[in-house]
This record gives sequence, structure tokens and C-alpha cells, in this order.
Amino acid sequence: MSRGPTVTVAGAGALGLSAALALADAGCVVTVFDPAPPLANASGVAAGMLAPVFEAVLDEVARPDLDLLMAARDLWPGLEARAGVRLDRAGAVAVGAPRWLGEVQAQIVRLGLHATELPRATLDEVAAGLSPVFDRALWTREDWRLEAETALAALRAACAAAGVAFRDEPARGAMGAERLVVATGAAQDLTELAPELAALTPIKGHIARLAGAPPPAMTVRGEGVYVTAGAAGVVVGATMEAGVADPAPDPAQAEPLLARGVKLFPDLKGRPHQLGAGVRAATPDGLPLVGFSRAPGVVLAVGARRNGWLLAPLVGRIVAACVTEREPGPYAARLAPGRFAGEAS
Ligand SMILES: Cc1cc2nc3c(=O)[nH]c(=O)nc-3n(C[C@H](O)[C@H](O)[C@H](O)COP(=O)(O)OP(=O)(O)OC[C@H]3O[C@@H](n4cnc5c(N)ncnc54)[C@H](O)[C@@H]3O)c2cc1C
Repeated sequence: MSRGPTVTVAGAGALGLSAALALADAGCVVTVFDPAPPLANASGVAAGMLAPVFEAVLDEVARPDLDLLMAARDLWPGLEARAGVRLDRAGAVAVGAPRWLGEVQAQIVRLGLHATELPRATLDEVAAGLSPVFDRALWTREDWRLEAETALAALRAACAAAGVAFRDEPARGAMGAERLVVATGAAQDLTELAPELAALTPIKGHIARLAGAPPPAMTVRGEGVYVTAGAAGVVVGATMEAGVADPAPDPAQAEPLLARGVKLFPDLKGRPHQLGAGVRAATPDGLPLVGFSRAPGVVLAVGARRNGWLLAPLVGRIVAACVTEREPGPYAARLAPGRFAGEAS
């Protein structure tokens, strides 16, 4: 393969690493810059759900983009094989009060999707400890999961094996490379270089990890909460605090979240937990900015809101196509960074 361009990737989160691996596989000479420790970003904090169905059903911002979310999910088996990221394909269930669950079911139908009704006896197997108040659930096989911390480590290892170099300092520009990929999450420090970053707003999220509590066999989605497995036990997520960019955990914000988790799984009450917080970057339409900036030589991979892990392989593929001047595929136009400035990019 002939050598592709030299590329600096700013940011070693899910988007930066996925892009770096795709770029290296496309023959580029890649260096990833990030001053933060490997897990100190939104990607390291995340629950790791790859959830096109329940994201579209439960989040009206994501709803119009079900097809794109599904397409991104479908790229994950390739990244699983390429980078050794383990995927949990058990699926996810929605559980809640009859009226709320009825609305979920109606939304599933409106979106042309299917969910299987699970009776209580089955629920005791897939979500042991679930409150007896809930006597049914809706199950989809389409929503998967990964363990975010181990997935980040696997992506980083795959990048290193593919020849990607890492520098633990900020990128202040292309750092001598022919192209700069900006994958800086919610950070705004490169906005002068890439003006489209000004379209991003921060959404802080809290998540609680309860060591020792037995995790459900599949993700449980409830009203304003989810309970899923984590490396050391149960994960309860996640708050959405629009406009807040401070990543420090705030126990007051986590209390109502934990209370909603306890409604689903009463045994979680009073268990010690470790609180995490991360800052997602969001655009006005909820989709990321991926592709050429109007700044020459700059490609963006930012703004994935609450679906950065889900979208990572799609983002990586589009970034690599842009840098190597290949066809970026059918979803690139919807993610074009210039779409909020009324310009083609
Ligand atoms: C609580 C919570 C739960 C979530 N759960 C899920 C989930 O279940 N599923 C899902 O798909 N998504 C989830 N998300 C969203 C997901 O985590 C984000 O969309 C995704 O991590 C964004 O990845 P990123 O690479 O864009 O940014 P980040 O992971 O934030 O990485 C950006 C990196 O850029 C670095 N950086 C900043 N400035 C510079 C610079 N100048 N030079 C070099 N590096 C720089 C930062 O240090 C950082 O490491 C969740 C988010 C939160 C907060």
C-alpha cells in the first residue's frame, strides 16, 4: 500500500481512537495527541451501550436517526474483530409502570421495530433482583453493549499495533502533519482552528458504579434510568445536565438517579457506589460533526452526544475516507460539519 498522508489526531476518546485505527488501516501515518490519562474522558466514563433501538425509542432527539444508529451498530462486529473489543449481544429490556411501558411499546411500533414481550418468570432470569412490581418487559436483541474501559484499552492497543504513535500532550494544531483530525470531545480549545466547534454545547452526565452488586444479564431501561453491567458490578446511568461543562462528580445530582435505580432493583438501596461524571458534546440536531472543516486540512470527529460509542466505527470510517479522498458513504452528508452554517463542506 502506498503511504497515505501524515495525520495528527487530537483526542484519544472513542472517536479519536476509532478514527486513528481506520486511518492507520488506510495507510496513513498517524499520531494521537491527548494530555489526559487514558480513561479521563467521556468515553472512559460511559456505560458502553450500543443501543440504536432504545435510544431512538426513548430519546426524541435520536429518533429521526434510527437508520444511522443502526448502520453504526452494524459496523461494530468489524471493529470487534479488528480491535478485539468484546461485544455483549444479550440485548436490552424496557421495564416500567404500565402507562410508561405502553408508550414505549407504541413508539416501538411507530418506528417499525419489534420487541418481544417477556413474562415475569423470564425476567427473574435475565434481571435477577428486579422489583416484583414489574410483571412484564419489552426485549430487543438489537441493542448491544461493551465495557467502555476495556474497549478504550483494546482500541488503543490495536492502534499501537497498527503503528499509531501516542503523545501525552495537547495538539495545538496539525503539529507538522498534513492533516489534523479534531476529536476533542466537548473541549473548545481548538475552536479558533476549526470554527464549527462553536456549534457544540456540553451535556454533563453522572453515572454510578456499585461494586459487588450482581449485574443484570442484560441492560434494563427504565423511566429516566438504566441499569446495566459494568466491570465490577452494576452501573446505574445517567443524568443529562445541559450546558454544564465541569466534569467533577456532584453527589447531589446522582441522588435522584440512584433512587430511580433502586425503584427497579430494590437491593441496590444503600450499597456503596463510586460516582463518575463525564461531559458529552452535542450539536443542535444531536448528530456529530464528521468530515471536512472549512479550515483547510482539518477534519472533525466531535459532538456524538449520548451515542459516541455506538457511532465510533461509523465516524472512524468517514474520517478515514475524507483524509484518503475516498467515498465517505451514505451517512456522511447528514454529519457534514458545515450544516449549521448553511454551507456545504
Ligand atoms: C455518563 C455517560 C454515559 C454515557 N453512556 C454512553 C453509552 O452507553 N453509549 C454510548 O454510545 N455513549 C455513551 N455516552 C456518550 C459517549 O461517552 C460520548 O459520546 C463519547 O465518549 C464521546 O467520545 P469522544 O471521543 O468524542 O470524546 P471524549 O471521550 O471526551 O474524548 C475527547 C478527548 O480529547 C482530549 N482533548 C481535548 N482537547 C485536546 C487537545 N487540544 N489535544 C489533544 N487532545 C485533546 C480530551 O483529553 C479527551 O480525552 C455516555 C456519556 C456519559 C457522560
